[in-house]
Order: sequence, then C-alpha cells, then structure tokens
Amino acid sequence: MPGFELWGAEERKEVNDVLETGILMRYGFDGPRKGIFKARELEEAICKRFGSKYAQLTSSGTAALTTALAVLGIGAGDEVIMPSFTFVASFEGVLSTGAVPVLVDVDETLTMDPSAVRRAITDKTKCVMPVHMCGSMADLEALQSICREHNLILLEDACQSIGATYKGKALGTIGDAGTFSFDFVKIMTCAEGGVVLTNKEDLYQKCDGYTDHGHDHKGVDRGADLHPFIGYNFRISELHAAVGLAQIRKLDMFLDIQKRNHSFLKNMLAPIPGVSFRKIPDPEGDSCTFLSWFLPTEEAAKAVISELKAQGILAGNFYWYDNNWHYIRKWDHLKNLDFLHPVNDQQREALTRLRSQDFSASDAVMSRCISTAISLLWTEEQIREKGEKIAEIVKKAVAMSDVNSEL
Ligand SMILES: *Cc1c(COP(=O)(O)O)cnc(C)c1O
Repeated sequence: MPGFELWGAEERKEVNDVLETGILMRYGFDGPRKGIFKARELEEAICKRFGSKYAQLTSSGTAALTTALAVLGIGAGDEVIMPSFTFVASFEGVLSTGAVPVLVDVDETLTMDPSAVRRAITDKTKCVMPVHMCGSMADLEALQSICREHNLILLEDACQSIGATYKGKALGTIGDAGTFSFDFVKIMTCAEGGVVLTNKEDLYQKCDGYTDHGHDHKGVDRGADLHPFIGYNFRISELHAAVGLAQIRKLDMFLDIQKRNHSFLKNMLAPIPGVSFRKIPDPEGDSCTFLSWFLPTEEAAKAVISELKAQGILAGNFYWYDNNWHYIRKWDHLKNLDFLHPVNDQQREALTRLRSQDFSASDAVMSRCISTAISLLWTEEQIREKGEKIAEIVKKAVAMSDVNSEL
C-alpha cells in the first residue's frame, strides 16, 4: 500500500524545485514560476501511465469523489448505490453533494455484490459507485451491464487501487469517471491529494472549474476569469503535486515489490487447512497491496486476531469487521445522523433506515476476513517468519473452533 515507505531523494528534488521559486500555487504567477508547473506535469503523467484522456488533481481523494459526483450531475434526491465495506470518504462524498447513499452488501470479492446492486435499484437511482477495496477490483463487467441496462452512471472509487487493472485497463478509467487518493497511506502519495479520471472532455472541463471556485481558466488574468457555474476550492498545491511526480515514477517498482511479497506470503498461507482467499475477478490485475484471506468461522478469525495481538504482531493485519473507519457495523455516526448541520429529508430518511437494514450477507464475509498489508520493505526472511507465525496461530485457532463446534 504505502509509497511513503520509499520516500527519498527523488521526492526531495521535486519539492525543492518548487521551494526554489516559492510559487506554491498551481495557477497564475507565470513569470516567477520559471516554467515549473508540477500539478500540470503530474496530470499529464497520470493520463499517460493509466491511459486516461483527462485527469484533474484535487486536494484529497474525498474532494475527488465530491467533484466527480458533482460534475456527473448527481445531487439532491439522487440515490448512489455503494458498498457496505469501504472507507468513510465514499459516503462523505455522496452526502456532500446532497445525494443519498444506498448501501448494499459485499461478497467474497470484498466489493459490492452485483445481485445486491440489482435489488437496490429504484426510480431515484442515478449512479452505481463500486469501491475497489484493498488493492483489487469489483466485478466490473457485471456492474457495467447493470448500468447499461438501467441507464445508470458508473463511478469507480479506485482510491485504494492505484495501478490495479481489470482486463488490461486501469481501474478508475473504466466507468464514466474514477478517482484515486494520494493521501499518506495510499499506493503512491502526495501527502494529501487525489485525482478525477475521465475520458469525457465535458466532464473534465467541469472538473477544472469546479475544483477552483468555478473559474473558467480562459484568460491570462486570473482575476478576470468568468464563473459559468458554482465551484469550490479543491485545488492541490504545487508542493503536494511535486511529491506525487516523484512517486508516480516509482509506481511500477512499488507494484513489482508488492506482487513479489504478496505471492511469497500467499504461498505460505495457502496450504493451511481452513484458509481461503478473497475472490478476485481478474487476478492478473490485483495491485497486491493487501493479502486478504478468510478463516472458516467468525470465532476462528477473532481467535487469530487476539493471538496476533497477544504476541505483539498484530500491526499490518486488519480485521475490518470491528473497524470503525471501514465497515457499516461500526459507522454509528452515520447511522445516528451525527451531522453538525441540518440535512435534506431524503438523506435523513435513508440514513435512519440504515439502522434496521439487514447486512447479514456482508457480515458473513467480513467477520471471517483478515487483510494483511504488504510492505515494500519486507525482506524474504521477514516474510517467511511472518508466514510461519501466522500459520501456527491459524492452525491452533481452526482446531479450537472445530472442537467448540463439536461440543
Ligand atoms: C483513501 C480513500 C478515499 C479518499 O481519501 P482521502 O484521504 O480523502 O484522500 C476514498 N475512498 C476510499 C475507499 C479510500 O480508501
């Protein structure tokens, strides 16, 4: 997952270019910036690397989602179907445009179950927003055909899956629009930042204005720009873009290391009785930032987690079922409508309904799942040691839960 693990001279050099001129903003100041346009350069590099026609950098991945939803015309009263397992940013983006998040179950892909999407469609549904969680992809073919059939927008939250692909195409470039996050713990980082990807020129033009107070960016004098529509300030700074420029050049190296470490660890866990792995619609396209695996029961998964904790080696192993950033079960602030301001009626009704919605299908998957984050810094020796310890803990936990189920 984390590009920050390999921070170095390349990032410092790019940041220093900006510090030399002191022009920290991406727009204007064309004289004193001496030809340095880090944000523009990073957008070009993103288009080239991921095969997207257009890219609009933003101040965060959350801002990128908000921007994508807004330029797609999704707002008050519109329903956006999204998964029960994601990061809070996904529903934050939806809520911020006034739209209604409709949460559906995930399956063993750890992404939205296409049949649950079908069941959730109403005459208010405007968009399907799969989240490519933990480095790997949703079943895009099934979701694309649902969207075509019902004339819905497909927006990919690919914030956690930079560099992953589906049938040869980069995640984030397959739907009507897609987003990446470049926050500090993502596959490549800008410290903070994000991007909207799209192949549609009109959407891109809207992104360009929306992220900068609606400026039309047509003249040379920023102060004289017109405002054809209302926007906000979701700009990235030159300093942040500079970091990203160094990181994108290292991305293929990050992915190579992740794939190697991932397959090493997977080969160690695969022979353990009771261990199975996340389903991946296109295994070739996995970015391998996490190895996500299942235990046979919730009880066994919890026993493994508590033993990892007891041995002081829990770090890097995530049990999402108990995690309050990522899974519906612990999103009390959402279910309790803990807003600081009034919200619209449709949002209030939908969020109130969440409290009694049945997520047992998601629970059955998430309660058995552990994701192990793949580090770029592991040595083979460290992976072997990790794998052996996990194997030992899992064998004990599975045996214990077998005994308990026989009693
Ligand atoms: C990180 C992330 C985002 C955006 O997060 P920011 O921290 O605002 O960049 C959105 N969705 C998912 C699934 C994420 O993991």
